[in-house]
Amino acid sequence: MEVVPPVSERFGVPVFLDNEVNAAALGEHQAHPGVRDLLFVKISTGIGAGLIAGGRIQRGALGAAGEIGHVPVPDGGGHPCRCGNLDCVEAVAGGTALLARSPAADLPGLAALARSGDAATVALLRDAGRRIGEVVATAVNLLNPAVVVLGGDLIGADEPLIAGLREAVYQRSTVLATRTLRIEPSRLGESAGLTGCAAMVLDRILAPETLDTAP
Ligand SMILES: [Zn+2]
Repeated sequence: MEVVPPVSERFGVPVFLDNEVNAAALGEHQAHPGVRDLLFVKISTGIGAGLIAGGRIQRGALGAAGEIGHVPVPDGGGHPCRCGNLDCVEAVAGGTALLARSPAADLPGLAALARSGDAATVALLRDAGRRIGEVVATAVNLLNPAVVVLGGDLIGADEPLIAGLREAVYQRSTVLATRTLRIEPSRLGESAGLTGCAAMVLDRILAPETLDTAP
């Protein structure tokens, strides 16, 4: 079902639609003034990315850019992914995969275990970080972002995950691409998406082509 027309009709205003990871990337871009190249990676039940390049969000030809969760990892163990392939990084190291190997019932529970210093959970997150980092390293080589921002449901208990991810990225990306690269947790947390939506609206409403056609 098309989402935009009924909402626009009901409220009588322009409506813009984007996926949550792109919205969060736009929000984090606002929180990093002066940064023109930023990769936002959301690690939740699944894994996805939003890309800001040259100061603009990049959605790709059909809006499918950023699906790094479905990049396969080597020696993944044959985990089936919801996309139909095997050993996508999301199926090996995403939140759902981590919960299957943890006594925690959900991701907040997993985060709580990590915060309490539970050794098995810390090791699980560090290993997941390395796995995700192998994929992010490829994205870093391809895109040369200034900052990789990590968001998702493990915010606040993601130190081992970030440590593993940093380790893999610095090991596998080129020296030039990582010379000044920063890899850091989200600055906006759960409000990144909302901030991004506001930025998207302002960007579209104030775009020269919109103002030119305004009554
Ligand atoms: Zn997949």
